[in-house]
Amino acid sequence: MKQLRNNVIRAGLEALYFTGAHHLLRPIFAGVGTIFMLHHVRPRRDGKFQPNRHLEVAPEFLRAMLSHLRSRGVDIVTMDELHRRLTERDFSRRFACFTLDDGYRDNRDFALPVMREFEAPFTVYVASDFAQGSGHLWWIALEMVIAGASSIEVELGGVVTRLDTSTPAAKQAAFDRLHDWLRGLPGGDDLKREVCALCTRYGVDEAAICRELCMSWDELKSFADDPLTSIGAHSVTHCNLARQPAEVAGQEMAVSRGRIEDVVQRPVAHLAYPYGDKFAAGRREFALAQAAGFKTAVTTRPGMIFPESAGHLTALPRVSLNGNYQDRRILPVLTSGAATAMWNGFRRIDAA
Ligand SMILES: [Zn+2]
Repeated sequence: MKQLRNNVIRAGLEALYFTGAHHLLRPIFAGVGTIFMLHHVRPRRDGKFQPNRHLEVAPEFLRAMLSHLRSRGVDIVTMDELHRRLTERDFSRRFACFTLDDGYRDNRDFALPVMREFEAPFTVYVASDFAQGSGHLWWIALEMVIAGASSIEVELGGVVTRLDTSTPAAKQAAFDRLHDWLRGLPGGDDLKREVCALCTRYGVDEAAICRELCMSWDELKSFADDPLTSIGAHSVTHCNLARQPAEVAGQEMAVSRGRIEDVVQRPVAHLAYPYGDKFAAGRREFALAQAAGFKTAVTTRPGMIFPESAGHLTALPRVSLNGNYQDRRILPVLTSGAATAMWNGFRRIDAA
């Protein structure tokens, strides 16, 4: 199913490119700017089973996007500057922001050098438990469990189910099924418990994943000293905030900010909601982020920034640089707003 969806999206992006429709749609749907969303930036890896590949782009693709934006005279700005332009209605020049979620070490090792080539600022949203080395990157744990097993036994809805994981295609199918099942579990702790059980049963050291992939507090401290980097908050535990009681969701925002500020010794004014789709961040979370005093908060809902986004500063959409579509031809499509306009049914604001 995922593969089919990817193919449909790719076909849509290519159609927009080849028909030139993105040129026609640009004046209406390009808005005044774009917030790009990335996760990992690192060289492509070999291997047929890479279910989290959509979360990583190669440094060359990031470089291609930056160079495309520069060639079109787009300003690459900080989230503070985006906030200023939106609130002061300064739309004399188009702008783009680069944001990277979770706090991966490859952001420092591979993204920062590319951003430096263009003197382009960017924001890294840190889940404080990830920096602490105690967070749960369950989607990577799930990938490792499936990568190392030829079949998986798991209780799904009270029925013990055996999933074939002997080939790359079977692994992908099992990953999709378990990923959707885990995201659909009702309680915040259910997901953690089930993934922990899988890791124990299939010999995956879940605790090591976080330390291996994420910047520690020490590393973040020096990373934050670079004039191009800003650190934003991304909750404490990387939970689905919409599934938490309001009090807990508010604490997830405030406590993560406090911990990061203690380390980097700078105000943390910007937030990214974990998962960030409409099932993880809605009206209540937008209000909580505003009440907590964040200047902006970003979702993972696809969309461009329009002048009217100034009225929804804690519900900002982004454009994903998705590892499944690393084709230079789609760069003008992504900056035209045509793709996100299609996804949104040609609505400009989606903040409900
Ligand atoms: Zn995240």
